[in-house]
Amino acid sequence: EEWCESMPKVELHAHLNGSIRVSTLLKLAKALNETQKDAINFSQMEHVIMKNALSLTEVFHMFDLIHNVITDHNIVTRITKEVIEDFASDNVVYLELRTTPKRNDSIGMSKRSYIDAVIEGLKSVSSVDVDFIPKTEDSKSFINDKFNGNSRKRIIVRLILSIDRRETTEAAMETVKLALEMRHFGVVGIDLSGNPKTGEWTTYLPALKFAREQGLNVTLHCGEIRNPKEIKNMLDFHPQRIGHACFFEDEHWRRMKSSKIPVEICLTSNIRTFSVASIDVHHFGDLYKANYPLVLCTDDTCVFSTSLSKEYKYAADSFGLGKWEMFEVSRNAVEHIFADNGVKNDLRKYFHSVSKNME
Ligand code: 5GP
Repeated sequence: EEWCESMPKVELHAHLNGSIRVSTLLKLAKALNETQKDAINFSQMEHVIMKNALSLTEVFHMFDLIHNVITDHNIVTRITKEVIEDFASDNVVYLELRTTPKRNDSIGMSKRSYIDAVIEGLKSVSSVDVDFIPKTEDSKSFINDKFNGNSRKRIIVRLILSIDRRETTEAAMETVKLALEMRHFGVVGIDLSGNPKTGEWTTYLPALKFAREQGLNVTLHCGEIRNPKEIKNMLDFHPQRIGHACFFEDEHWRRMKSSKIPVEICLTSNIRTFSVASIDVHHFGDLYKANYPLVLCTDDTCVFSTSLSKEYKYAADSFGLGKWEMFEVSRNAVEHIFADNGVKNDLRKYFHSVSKNME
């Protein structure tokens, strides 16, 4: 096992359906084609998975293809279960998994029943121990009863509900209300994602404001395309974190840095979608040097054929960083999680104990 695989890691920007296991996606697509002739265009799908450069349009087409295989609640449950198993086997010890609650009347799915199916997935993992119910204050510390002296893998999972940019204000509000109802199942925040070429900031703003007022954390996909006005509006909102930050101008960097908003960095995703011209000019380099709060993440392990350990390796190789420096990157991510201080403290202790054993 390479250091990047065995090192404990923290994943804060992973889209559930973009992280579907490739073998499962192909199996589900095949099964669907047997019942509904040509429901899925296979060659198109494989083409996307194999390609090493994708336009954003192709990426979002791929999400539509993936969403088409979700024909019942059990599939949502299965995808969730496998995604958690896959992150755990890559030694992710804390995962914030995000997903867009989907309503699909033709299969009797509501946003609520979709999320119920996701939670079923969290419960159904058996190969590793999944900790997703926020603890009450008197319950035992995670580090003592979970990590030590036990060979079974453990992963803490929290959920972020995404608003898709295609949605209306009402639909976005419904997602926020759902997130509030599901807090006791570990929903910790709201994300704004979906095709950046679609929709207007003002559409989502009321729901995002409401989320904040109610104490939910907010993370925004920001600067995936050139849109200075929207980037400015998003930074003015002061989200708890932002994802990507690719098409930033000097003024945006200044604003972001003065408010110290942590950035979720998805190297492979940014390079494969041409959001950043080449890895050597990726803003990770400057932010890392400036000791700016950042977190390395995968975005979509299926669509971008990656894993969190691959992202760590990619950063290390591209920016001349060693195992110890990467360990600090991973450890610092703990400071930017959306879970409560109990979880944060347990993770701090855990990383401290691992640092002593690491040679
Ligand atoms: P889901 O929310 O269905 O679990 O995961 C897939 C969805 O996440 C996509 O339909 C899209 O809305 C969002 N998503 C995944 N990757 C990206 C990305 O790189 N950029 C943006 N803006 N949205 C993404």
